[in-house]
Amino acid sequence: MAKTSGKTPQAIRGTQDIFGPDAEAFAHVVETFERVRRLYRFRRAEMPVFERTEVFARSIGETTDIVSKEMYSFKDRGGESLTLRPEFTAGIARAWLTNGWQQHAPLKIATHGPLFRYERPQKGRYRQFHQIDAEVIGAAEPQADVELLAMADQLLRELGIEGVTLQLNTLGDADSREAWRAALVEHFRAVKGELSEDSQDRLEKNPLRILDSKDPRDRTFVADAPKIDAFLSDQALAFFESVTGGLDAAGVKWRRAESLVRGLDYYRHTAFEFVPDEGSAAANALGSQSTVLGGGRYDGLMESLGGAPTPAVGWAAGIERLAMLVGGVFDPTPVYAVVPDQPAMREEADRIAFHLRQNSRKDFHVWTAYRGHGKKLAEKAKKDGVDAILFVRQADNPNDVLHLTNVKAGPNDAMTDLWSILARLPEPYKSLSGEG
Ligand code: ATP
Ligand code: MG
Repeated sequence: MAKTSGKTPQAIRGTQDIFGPDAEAFAHVVETFERVRRLYRFRRAEMPVFERTEVFARSIGETTDIVSKEMYSFKDRGGESLTLRPEFTAGIARAWLTNGWQQHAPLKIATHGPLFRYERPQKGRYRQFHQIDAEVIGAAEPQADVELLAMADQLLRELGIEGVTLQLNTLGDADSREAWRAALVEHFRAVKGELSEDSQDRLEKNPLRILDSKDPRDRTFVADAPKIDAFLSDQALAFFESVTGGLDAAGVKWRRAESLVRGLDYYRHTAFEFVPDEGSAAANALGSQSTVLGGGRYDGLMESLGGAPTPAVGWAAGIERLAMLVGGVFDPTPVYAVVPDQPAMREEADRIAFHLRQNSRKDFHVWTAYRGHGKKLAEKAKKDGVDAILFVRQADNPNDVLHLTNVKAGPNDAMTDLWSILARLPEPYKSLSGEG
């Protein structure tokens, strides 16, 4: 191996080493998502982290922030332009087309993992971040939108996240969207000089995106811009009414957000975001980076990748942002430490610990360490938050080999489970007694 020297390399800007309570909260978000997506019978998929650059360029749109300035693109050793995925939807659409997943239509699919965007890192905004993602592909029915939104709403509730409201809009069908677009161009052109540089640039290319601008210079002009409602076709209006009616029936609270457009080109009809309410604890926790979950209907996407027209709808949520709202995760499962009283009892202690783990019915966790014994090790166990300590000690009377010290009382059924498993230990631990 080559000898290396010099300074320790630093982590890449905008990446995180997630550990401790943050990592527990992160895992809790993913586990809860896995449970909820199974409840709704969404199938799991694992997707590549990189794709040909055109997968994202063609579907997300060249004029979007993501494609124009946020992608991690590079040439591989074969000279091919590849991109680290900045989102899931485009890759899932590519997979639908290349694998013939049409046979599963309507396909309910879910995944999670890392995404990469070259953004200015700040609280809740990273260059490598993680999302959970759910999509329904091959369904034109508004019921698909409703089901996805009900699922998102349930996820937030199961995570105990409060003070976050569904903001809902419709972008109409292709005709409504085109008419609205023309009216927006006219509106913004009149005040072009006062808009931010980015928005001046967007004016001809992608005027809807001005509505999405976070620049304060654009804010007032966005507020009095023409609203989509004046341009909705009868069909588009009927679709939107089915979605809102379905949400009301499902008990999902929502608020109309007339200037919500979402940044990407491929959206039609439903567009939505779950955003913390002003002044709520959630808003305080997230600061200005407030959207936790966003998505919508993307009926036009498959065609941009050369596929047949395919109606689809989906959402994605930032795991880090959800984890920040979850805060601490309390796991009530009792933890038992198995501690040898002296070095000579190490092997016995290990035997007992493995026996407990192999026979646990998941109602407790078992803590061990490789080094140390007795009181000192017990202290380390307490510091690690164990609920009780099982001392394994040398004794002439086998009844006295194990000694349980309660640090914190665990639930009774877990204690019963512990003792019934210990009772099944081979000789010489046939009958045991404990205290505490
Ligand atoms: P924003 O307006 O905050 O830039 P976005 O519209 O770019 O969000 P989407 O592409 O819709 O976000 O992604 C869905 C979710 O993924 C966001 O609501 C957010 O929770 C999360 N997310 C997006 N970009 C980042 C990032 N750079 N770091 C952390 N989370 C992110
Ligand atoms: Mg963004």
